[in-house]
Amino acid sequence: MEKRDKIYEGKAKILYTTDDPDLLIQYFKDDATAFNAAKKGTIDQKGIINNKISTKIFEMLGSHGVATHFVKSLSDREMLVKRVTIVPLEVIVRNRAAGSLCRLLGLPEGTGLVCPILEFSYKEDRLGDPMVNEYHIRALKFATDDEMEKIKALAFKINEALREFFKTINIELIDFKLEFGKYKNDIILADEISPDTCRLWEMGTGEKLDKDRFRRDLGNIEQAYQEVLRRVTQ
Ligand code: UDP
Repeated sequence: MEKRDKIYEGKAKILYTTDDPDLLIQYFKDDATAFNAAKKGTIDQKGIINNKISTKIFEMLGSHGVATHFVKSLSDREMLVKRVTIVPLEVIVRNRAAGSLCRLLGLPEGTGLVCPILEFSYKEDRLGDPMVNEYHIRALKFATDDEMEKIKALAFKINEALREFFKTINIELIDFKLEFGKYKNDIILADEISPDTCRLWEMGTGEKLDKDRFRRDLGNIEQAYQEVLRRVTQ
């Protein structure tokens, strides 16, 4: 598959066109940002690790009947993906309170939830991805009602599959962020699923195996990402 033009460069990934108009190459970088890019750095090997973790997770979700943009792995840092139109929402699922939910409601980190929480943020870096609800989404046409029904059902289905998957490797899935894309009249999962986009705690010890190690300067960041990769592909 021939790599042609760079069409998008984000904080952690680059997208290139290919000779097939329906397919793009998604390239994973080592760059890491947090707090709406106020904190910047690199995590050695992160691009390679996240490409491999995302690949494994997209394959696992595919086997559960979840359509994703993943087509095939191309190299250490590249996967071939379907070209979608991204729905401008960050879809967040939470199984335990952490991060911005703790700040919003003054909760201690790790507070249990009796059922998962679904949240939406409008994807707009300039505004720091503000939280929105389904009325904002409808009124401002960020997504149609039909698309939202599909997105909500997929988010909960993905949560169940991911929780179960991580549980088998002794990791608790605390929360995560999804992005969806429109592809030929359907909604499919896009972007990535990795320790950059999930909170992953070691079961029993609660040790953080995700980007919070970078956000909070906890050290051993690469080791934590490598450990997730080792378990995910074991
Ligand atoms: N998240 C993400 N990208 C974002 C915002 C959040 O991948 O731009 C992920 C984050 O890693 C966590 C979950 O979504 O797993 C919930 O994040 P939260 O709202 O708690 O935000 P944060 O604590 O990062 O401000």
